[in-house]
Amino acid sequence: MGVSPQGDRPRSGFREPAASPQAGILIDCGLFQGQEESRGSSAADLAIDFPIDHIRALVVTHVHIDHVGRIPYLLAAGFDGPIICSEPSAIMLPEILEDALKIGFTRDRALINRVLELIRARLVPLPYGRWHSVFEEEAGSLKVRLQRAGHILGSAYVECDAVSGSGAERIVFSGDLGAPHSPLLPEPSPPERADRLVIESTYGDKNHEDRETRRYRLKAVLEHALEDGGTVLIPAFSIGRTQELLYEIEGLIAEFGGFWNNLEIVVDSPLAAEFTKIYRDLKPFWDEEARALVAAGRHPLSFEQLTVINSHEDHLNAVEYLAKSHRPCVVIAGSGMCAGGRVVNYLKAMLGDARNDVLFVGYQAAGTPGRDILNYGPRGGWVELDGERYDIRAQVHTVGGYSAHAGQEDLLRFVEGIPQSPSEIRIVHGDEGAKRALQAKLRKLVPVADVVIPD
Ligand SMILES: [Zn+2]
Repeated sequence: MGVSPQGDRPRSGFREPAASPQAGILIDCGLFQGQEESRGSSAADLAIDFPIDHIRALVVTHVHIDHVGRIPYLLAAGFDGPIICSEPSAIMLPEILEDALKIGFTRDRALINRVLELIRARLVPLPYGRWHSVFEEEAGSLKVRLQRAGHILGSAYVECDAVSGSGAERIVFSGDLGAPHSPLLPEPSPPERADRLVIESTYGDKNHEDRETRRYRLKAVLEHALEDGGTVLIPAFSIGRTQELLYEIEGLIAEFGGFWNNLEIVVDSPLAAEFTKIYRDLKPFWDEEARALVAAGRHPLSFEQLTVINSHEDHLNAVEYLAKSHRPCVVIAGSGMCAGGRVVNYLKAMLGDARNDVLFVGYQAAGTPGRDILNYGPRGGWVELDGERYDIRAQVHTVGGYSAHAGQEDLLRFVEGIPQSPSEIRIVHGDEGAKRALQAKLRKLVPVADVVIPD
């Protein structure tokens, strides 16, 4: 079976011998991590450079761009199989790809619509927990089942039952696993069986703060804004973090009331607004805590203090207004690593003022302005944005754990929870150091498993 390690560039050489060598599936088809931030990727970089004739289906674990960004290129290369994903992912995938196509592919509206039509026609929404036969051929068969991964709405890990001449095997692909106790989504349960496991390792060398600590720290940053009328700027991806943050902020306002009702929340991104709406519409996929709030009459993702900005003109007005106003405000805008998008205008206008705060809630890749602000901001340094230096007087904070990947302990618990140890564990989707750290831990935890880092 041909497979791709999630989020990394799919490799033609990475083949599993379990099923027929003539047939396989592809799990995710994304951009390199950080690539979506650079927005300058050339078409040649993105072109599909591995054989696809044997691929019977694409299985999508979740709709983050580093997992789905190259689907249009896969179709262009001639892939004509189904795209299997969870029900929420099937709703979100065309939206995220429409945005990606507009930014990196073409401005030709008719062409974008044709690609989206093609994608919609191929989508096979699969309810969680239900087996789906991908192929049954003389040489072998393959079934897949999706389980909740707790990372973003619709995220799944993939269980594959592969049968070939040499026997049957259960292979599990983790996709991106969520951190436990994150707001809104139920946490993942370990697979009931995995003869082989392919696991992500984004936080293979780190643990997250628990939810209460995170919430407390978020509260402290927001209080600074409430005290001196500053803006808290949160660079965030549209899907997942934005909604989790809104949920937490609504919770703080509801809990403390009074003064807290003065806090304005601005989501400045048409895409984030769209995904917030989808999150709101898909309440059956929320966890119990969130559904209980709704039952009690609360509106965690559409509260009174929330303003959504769509047009570019409104965006520019908001930047100008907030830079001068003394009203406490939280702005959530992309991109998450400050390498582009509307957050850059806010940074230019806000970084120089000590009333303001920049709150990072996600991973900042090396070489991005986000990483520089995080590194140099606390030391009174500067950052380069669009070729110009900006001094950083705003306070810089980081709160981890929102819509995050599982931390090291969570990953270990996921593996430990598999009743019978896998015979092989492949570590993918992380920095080299994170992969190595997780490998060392897993070798101790599961001595019978061959723990490998594919190159
Ligand atoms: Zn992800």
